[in-house]
Amino acid sequence: MSESSSYYNRLIETVIELSVAKDWKSAVEEWSIHDFAEDDTLIESCICGKENLRYLFTIRNDLNGKTLFPIGSSCIKKFERNDLDEEVKIKEQLFKLLHAIENNQFLTLSAEFFSKKMLHYLFEEGAFKRNKYNNFNPELDYKFMLKMFNKKSELSSREEKKVAAIILGSIKPFLKKLLEDKRRRYE
Ligand SMILES: [Zn+2]
Repeated sequence: MSESSSYYNRLIETVIELSVAKDWKSAVEEWSIHDFAEDDTLIESCICGKENLRYLFTIRNDLNGKTLFPIGSSCIKKFERNDLDEEVKIKEQLFKLLHAIENNQFLTLSAEFFSKKMLHYLFEEGAFKRNKYNNFNPELDYKFMLKMFNKKSELSSREEKKVAAIILGSIKPFLKKLLEDKRRRYE
């Protein structure tokens, strides 16, 4: 048996053991993403046995409440569920974006750090703040960011400034708060 198929088998066994259904195809339908974290130290191993996980997910069984931790994104992909894959992608993007902002790397809407789905997630989660610049309607900031993200031509300097103001004023503090207890680092 190859090494990768033994990881895969261990994943299947572990998930089925904690699921109500006893076949893989049905069992994968029972799970949701429950929590997520980032570990800079890479000391954790996935439930399948693969080592050095950076993004650690907790999944929870909707039927019996059991949880599995930590599981990596490549194992979640094996569930072949688009909804889970999208959620995982957004969660990982949140960490990457926060690092980029903290390193003053990116105050523009690059596709490396943003996506339409992620902007929508940020809006739904209340990341955009009410303030006098958006007439106390944060949806205007969300729509502006979406428009700028989709814009084919270069942003004007006025637009760039507004994008940077929204990233620094709304998105950065939101991410810091959201992710503060989800990051493990060498202290
Ligand atoms: Zn794994």
